[in-house]
Amino acid sequence: MRPSLLDPFFASVRSLSGVGPKVAVLLAKLLGTEGPGASEPRVGQLLFLPPHSVIDRRNRPGIAFAQEGAIVTLEVRVDRHQPAPRGRSNVPHRVFCHDDTGEIALVFFHAQQPWLERTMPVGETVIVSGRMEWFNGRASMVHPDHIASIEDAASLPLVEPIYPLTSGLSPKTLTRAIREALTRIPPLPEWVEPALLTRERFLSHEEALRTLHQPEEPADIAPESPARRRLAYDEFLAGQLALALVRLKTRKLSGRPLDGDGRLVNQVLEALPYSLTHSQQKAVEDIITDLKQPERMLRLLQGDVGSGKTVVGLLAMAHAAEAGGQSALMAPTEVLARQHYATIAPIAEKAGLRAALLTGREKGRERQQILDDLKSGDIHIIIGTHALFQEKVEYHDLVLTIIDEQHRFGVHQRLQLTAKGTAPDMLVMTATPIPRTLVLTAFGDMDVSKLTEKPAGRRPITTATIPMERMDELVERMRGAIADGQKIYWICPLVEESELVELTSAEERFQSLQPIFGEQIGLIHGRMSGAEKDEAMRAFKNGETRILIATTVIEVGVDVPDATVIVIEHAERFGLAQLHQLRGRVGRGDKPSTCLLLYKGPLGEVSRARLQVMRETEDGFRIAEEDLKLRGEGELLGTRQSGTPGFRLASIEAHGDLLEVARKDARLILERDPDLASERGTALRLLLYLFGRDEAVRLLRAG
Ligand code: ADP
Ligand code: MG
Repeated sequence: MRPSLLDPFFASVRSLSGVGPKVAVLLAKLLGTEGPGASEPRVGQLLFLPPHSVIDRRNRPGIAFAQEGAIVTLEVRVDRHQPAPRGRSNVPHRVFCHDDTGEIALVFFHAQQPWLERTMPVGETVIVSGRMEWFNGRASMVHPDHIASIEDAASLPLVEPIYPLTSGLSPKTLTRAIREALTRIPPLPEWVEPALLTRERFLSHEEALRTLHQPEEPADIAPESPARRRLAYDEFLAGQLALALVRLKTRKLSGRPLDGDGRLVNQVLEALPYSLTHSQQKAVEDIITDLKQPERMLRLLQGDVGSGKTVVGLLAMAHAAEAGGQSALMAPTEVLARQHYATIAPIAEKAGLRAALLTGREKGRERQQILDDLKSGDIHIIIGTHALFQEKVEYHDLVLTIIDEQHRFGVHQRLQLTAKGTAPDMLVMTATPIPRTLVLTAFGDMDVSKLTEKPAGRRPITTATIPMERMDELVERMRGAIADGQKIYWICPLVEESELVELTSAEERFQSLQPIFGEQIGLIHGRMSGAEKDEAMRAFKNGETRILIATTVIEVGVDVPDATVIVIEHAERFGLAQLHQLRGRVGRGDKPSTCLLLYKGPLGEVSRARLQVMRETEDGFRIAEEDLKLRGEGELLGTRQSGTPGFRLASIEAHGDLLEVARKDARLILERDPDLASERGTALRLLLYLFGRDEAVRLLRAG
């Protein structure tokens, strides 16, 4: 149960004055909390919305010295009201005022006269803040942003935070809601270590929130300010602690050493038509060492596209089989699951291992047979999509789970998977070369193996950019390539808004090229049935078709080693990571390959930079870094697709150093207090709730 101390943070925003159902919907949109089944945003979520800038109203020059266009705050005496004449609503209401230096007219269009007279009674002194205007030597201010009496002067924000907005939401409403939210928050016990508090000059969590929303200096809201750093640290710590808890608790759960005599592993090695690269060998050794330990394995296998991760996974599964256990390999798409099955099954068979495929498509008796054989232990290796875990699949003895292309699943699913209680050893394979900082935020303190070399015989890929206008030339080149016996992928433009439009563009391209290439052209897209997709892939693999028109369904993992050309249409619409993934579909055989990036100009700055990077390098790590620079960190992990909220207050770029501190701190905390039972532990539980990491708290209880 969530401690009641935190209730004010979890109250609906509708409990704030001025926030009704309509505004609540707008706030959900602004905070990114909307969605099916989502509840109204919470007060705490609102407080975690940082202002992006401030308006500095500290300039108090006196009327005569205020510059044209400047934002100033003035203390003036009200001399006279000049209301709009009756029936002439286009003439403004003017309020004439003065201070020691001069006179000014405050100008209000369509204003409520009684309200103005009440707010600015003649003879009183008031404080106004807004933009200064001069015309013909006369000073005026149209619709001051703030008007306050002398008694209320303190309520006028001299450094006013400015928040991101969404259409329909007025800044006044938002600011008022946040201000009120601030009055609700209770002081919380400190969870940060005293030494770190001192070293970083951190404010308390509560003070940091107040400073963020009621800054005294513009610098108070800057990413490097102590307030912001404190909150960023809290956010990182909550994340790292949650991940460390998952790791700790799930490791305890399994605790079964998998021993083997190397027999099956060797048989698989012998069945391979090639020998392993050094880094593949090293990765296999790492993994087998892990599997032999009584603790649960949580390892990330990172390797650029084409580096040969699949076979590493297969060898791990062979070891698991030596120990008498079953393995499951989960792929993000059906196409990919099928392809894994097609590569793995024949090799596994040579080692006497039975592999099977299970996706949403296996039905009826066939499916039942697979389920029965899984339960009896007749199947050693099961390959499939998330159906492997979501449905009522019973295993005889599942000891190893391999997740391919993890970034597609998102961290959330991984937590769910683990929280389900199945706790086999886990290997995560990813082609996105994730920088270390991102590995940390997404996976916590996970062990990592890297495939740093490409298998021998790989040829570099030549990458060129071509403007759309030269399509005819391109088609001629394609003709030549096909006559030369080559195979070509043709990727149709990514259409952000709609899968349907994307589909149309693929079909249209297919129709426009078919008269030229006839029978040799095939089509594959996401809306096809599984069987149709298989057929399209099969025909391309066998060489019955030589050009495959595709939407981005082939983005991840598809392996047709003798495809040597990839054309990417409207390349300027793709992100770098995606372009790199797509390009990795070629260059897999022994022939030189080409990647042609078709673009439609004029190019924006970012698109131009992306295409440039693609031309310059094939190095996945460099591409990932550039991507990070060009797009910001959230998207690299595909968090957008999976809907996992990113960080609200912390940014890896600005607070990367704190992430490292948080990681160490999390580990130390759990070493000393694995159940978070101490006084600090109790405070840390609050932190986990505060940042929505309750899954981890649940694990605590499960022990
Ligand atoms: P990815 O890391 O992108 O998943 P794959 O596992 O699909 O890469 O491997 C890409 C291709 O490289 C496959 O055709 C595979 O058979 C081949 N391959 C893997 N390891 C080696 C190796 N050591 N030598 C030669 N070819 C290899
Ligand atoms: Mg792969």
